[in-house]
Amino acid sequence: MQITGRCHCGEVTYHAEVDETKVLNCHCTDCQVISSGPFRTVVLSKANAITFTASQPKEYIKVADSGNKRAQGFCGNCGTSLYATSVGEGDKIYGLRIGAIEQREQLIPKTQIWCRSSPAWLKELNTITGFDTVPNG
Ligand SMILES: [Zn+2]
Ligand SMILES: [Zn+2]
Repeated sequence: MQITGRCHCGEVTYHAEVDETKVLNCHCTDCQVISSGPFRTVVLSKANAITFTASQPKEYIKVADSGNKRAQGFCGNCGTSLYATSVGEGDKIYGLRIGAIEQREQLIPKTQIWCRSSPAWLKELNTITGFDTVPNG
C-alpha cells in the first residue's frame, strides 16, 4: 500500500510503500520514553521503499543493552517522531510511526509486543469517561 506522511510543521514529508498487514503496537519501555506516550504503533515498510520529498529527517541512534543500534528518525524542527530503522549498510525496513501517516485510519494493528511493560490502565481504556472534544468547564 502506498502512503504519504508529514511531520506536524511540514518540514519533513515522505511517501512510502508499506505492508498494511504488518501494523503493530509496541509497549516496550524505549517506545514509551521516545514517544513520551503509553505505547507506539508502527507499520513496516517494504525494503528501502521510502522517499523524503522535502527536508531530510534528523536521526538519533539508540543503542540497546545488546549493543544493537537503531536509528530513530524525527523532524529536527518540530520533533515529530517518524520512524525507526537499521544502522549501516544493507536493505532498510522502516518501522513508520502511524501518527504521522495521512492514511493512518486504514492501518489497523494486528499484533502487540512487549505487553509486559504496558500500563494496567490501558486494558481498561474504554471504561474511562470520554468526550468527542474538550468538555466545557
Ligand atoms: Zn516538523
Ligand atoms: Zn518498542
